[in-house]
Amino acid sequence: MLTPAATARLDRHLRDLPELLAYAHLALQPGSTTRSSHVTGATRTAPLPCSINVLSLLGPAASDTVRDPHGDQDGLVPAVGTITAWARLHAEEHGQQPADTNLGTLLAYLTSLLPWAAEQPWADEYANEIADLHRRCTPLALLRPRRRLMQLPCPRCHLQSLVREDGHDAECATPGCGVILRPDEYDQRATAYADALNAA
Ligand SMILES: [Zn+2]
Repeated sequence: MLTPAATARLDRHLRDLPELLAYAHLALQPGSTTRSSHVTGATRTAPLPCSINVLSLLGPAASDTVRDPHGDQDGLVPAVGTITAWARLHAEEHGQQPADTNLGTLLAYLTSLLPWAAEQPWADEYANEIADLHRRCTPLALLRPRRRLMQLPCPRCHLQSLVREDGHDAECATPGCGVILRPDEYDQRATAYADALNAA
């Protein structure tokens, strides 16, 4: 059972995580030019070995991922296992199922069930694990301040994973998606999106 303040913090963490994971993923991609000068103090893990692991973070979560709350986890690999395991527990005990196993979907699902989850006997452990994930992603997300996450969802994978680096096209950060939007294409989508919202 969580206090209102702890529930509000968990809600913020769950809403932050898609963006943090996207930035963490970008920060650890091979070829990052600003990485080495900022990484000191942000993480004890060398960036390059992480990059392969982080690549799996934003794709579909493996259904057989084992939760390992006491393991000696390193890097961001546990993000998939942690989020998947808690989503599975929610599905088993609450009954409502997530639409699919993408991390973005699972995080939205967890957010939607938070009022219920905050009342459960495991709520403290849940909040602690999500807080730990949030804390470990944050310094990685700060490594690429010149890359901005865009407001619109990706037209192909529908995650909020479009990122624009200064002077470049917007690219989707989801592995395997590969959408690239020129600035005028992005603006067209933004206009169409706003029109659709106004018409609704
Ligand atoms: Zn995409």
